[in-house]
Amino acid sequence: MIYPSLLHCDNCPRNCGVNRYEQTGFCGAPAELTVNLHTLHLGEEPPLSGTRGSGTIFFSWCNLRCVFCQNYNLSVLGWGQQISPTELCQMMLELQHSGAHNINLVTPTHYTFQIIDAINLAKDRGLTIPLLWNSSAYEKVSTLQKLEGLIDIYLPDYKYAHGVYALKYSSAADYPAIALKAILEMDRQVGPLQINPNGIAVKGLIIRLLILPDGLSGTQKTLRTIADQLGLHHTLSIMGQYYPAGEAAKYPELQRGITQAEYDAVVDSALQLGFSHIYTQELSCSDAWTPRFVRNSNLVECNVTPNYSAAEY
Ligand code: SF4
Repeated sequence: MIYPSLLHCDNCPRNCGVNRYEQTGFCGAPAELTVNLHTLHLGEEPPLSGTRGSGTIFFSWCNLRCVFCQNYNLSVLGWGQQISPTELCQMMLELQHSGAHNINLVTPTHYTFQIIDAINLAKDRGLTIPLLWNSSAYEKVSTLQKLEGLIDIYLPDYKYAHGVYALKYSSAADYPAIALKAILEMDRQVGPLQINPNGIAVKGLIIRLLILPDGLSGTQKTLRTIADQLGLHHTLSIMGQYYPAGEAAKYPELQRGITQAEYDAVVDSALQLGFSHIYTQELSCSDAWTPRFVRNSNLVECNVTPNYSAAEY
């Protein structure tokens, strides 16, 4: 099947305009869906991993390509296998059959239209668990609108408050403005996080905040933006798992994990602003929470264990 939107691809804010059946744009992704790993993941936030795991599907390539990416082999090197939307549908059904609480689509933006087909097919064939869009938030509102009614849970990583660092580390000076619009659209579609009596997320928004060393992510400013523009009722996941990965070795300021003091300062700011739904993490400056990806594999096992605390302040 030919996707017209891929003949002159402007699916994300990069607006490359390339024919993805013949060449690749900034994301590096061809027209064909490319997946590295599908697995039951126990390392996500507690209402996503639950007791049986989040049915996580890791897509290859990425439209943001952060220099410190912890999934660099996938996002930049493109490790993975090309599959059809029908095969993606089968992966979703297999994960549901294995007991997954949800289908967790990781770095899906550049495959939005192929994923929509796979979701529709999977729903026709009995997929009933929530679908989760786990993205960088560097996305167009017009593309996200195509997902309305299909995605139940949005899990954006709100990465930068300052364009200068978004430019330096992700070649995206417009990231702060683009991400805010994208998350506002996600909020419009699904609203705040809803959790069922068993503690499992069924709908809504969780905003991830990965803290970089020396305040480079501008997380304190991002918190104020969320408070002003989205509201204090939203759920935050404050992440302390940064470690130098990918091409971070080229940037001296990215050579260390964050300190406990840096982490605590962000949590304190969130509390002082009035947020009350916050997931916190143990600090970790290693790849302990990153799945062991293999170049051409669809492993169905995962080494990751939980390190989140559920916090209601
Ligand atoms: S999805 Fe990829 S090719 Fe298309 S506009 Fe975005 S970066 Fe460019």
